[in-house]
Amino acid sequence: MNFSNTLISWYHNHKRSLPWRETTDPYLIWLSEIILQQTRVNQGMPYYLKFVERFPTVQELAAAPQEEVLKLWQGLGYYSRARNLQAAARQVIDKAGIFPKSYKELLELKGVGEYTAAAIASFAYKEPVVVVDGNVYRVLSRIYGFSLPINSTEGVKEFKKLANSLIDPKKPAQYNQAIMEFGALQCVPKNPDCGVCPFQNDCAAFKEDRITELPVKLKKTKVLSLHHHYMVTITPSGKTLLQERPQTGIWAGLYEFPFVESNGALLSHEFTAADSFQEVYGGVRFRESVYNQEPIIHKLSHRKIHAYFWIIETETEVEGAMSIAEAKAKPLHVLMERFMNEFWHK
Ligand code: SF4
Repeated sequence: MNFSNTLISWYHNHKRSLPWRETTDPYLIWLSEIILQQTRVNQGMPYYLKFVERFPTVQELAAAPQEEVLKLWQGLGYYSRARNLQAAARQVIDKAGIFPKSYKELLELKGVGEYTAAAIASFAYKEPVVVVDGNVYRVLSRIYGFSLPINSTEGVKEFKKLANSLIDPKKPAQYNQAIMEFGALQCVPKNPDCGVCPFQNDCAAFKEDRITELPVKLKKTKVLSLHHHYMVTITPSGKTLLQERPQTGIWAGLYEFPFVESNGALLSHEFTAADSFQEVYGGVRFRESVYNQEPIIHKLSHRKIHAYFWIIETETEVEGAMSIAEAKAKPLHVLMERFMNEFWHK
């Protein structure tokens, strides 16, 4: 089997037309790669278009206020990507505005790991470095019957070795695009369309009926359950109160209502007696009611958040409160955005 030729010819017949494939500008390719990390193409596309329109060059991205970048990123999740995006843009500006020109130099950019550096280097500069992402692991493990766990050190090493032996050094961009597209469209995680697959006769998983077993992945760490009781302040003049999250950890730098964290549901008096509640409302008279008795569940990679929203109507103004329009204009995490859009219709 000539793996690379078969793959590239499949690609020519099936590839989707995507804007970042029509360019060799490393800035635009980098932008698309960061947006598409842990994100499906359909979801990432409008963000890519918005970013290119607002920041057509790396200079404009570097010069923008961080809040504006986070606001534009709102809804896409994994916000460290947005912060790294801007930090990397500033690194480029510090080097006379010239984008790094090789895989090795690209790795020095904030937020750019081996996969992204390989994608940019091969697409923009035709450097023969192989990309290895979830799609690539799946395709290779199935076709070659590789059962080493893809998230183990040994697995990563062996998959890279195999991937490096397969890349077409004369067509690295096409090869890398092709294998990722093949994983995204043809050899998909569930029910791949083996009946029309050009690798059917060679694919170990197909021949040995092991498609559902491959690729092998080690079990994830335990998910932590957290209960957040958000305080939705409403002052007599209709203002509300937000706080900025710390610059590290989940949703870093985004805004949210102040909240009380607990191990489970809280009764009204337990909620209002909590230290974090008193820090916000100590000395202020208020009336409280819970907006949702049943928590809204939000899953993150290692956390499961149970969110309750409490409406706190204060009798006097509260220091730091802002108008609803101002609050909505802040970079918000997904729980806040959904709540605000429902509670204070758009
Ligand atoms: S035969 Fe099926 S499992 Fe094997 S590469 Fe093709 S689509 Fe994937």
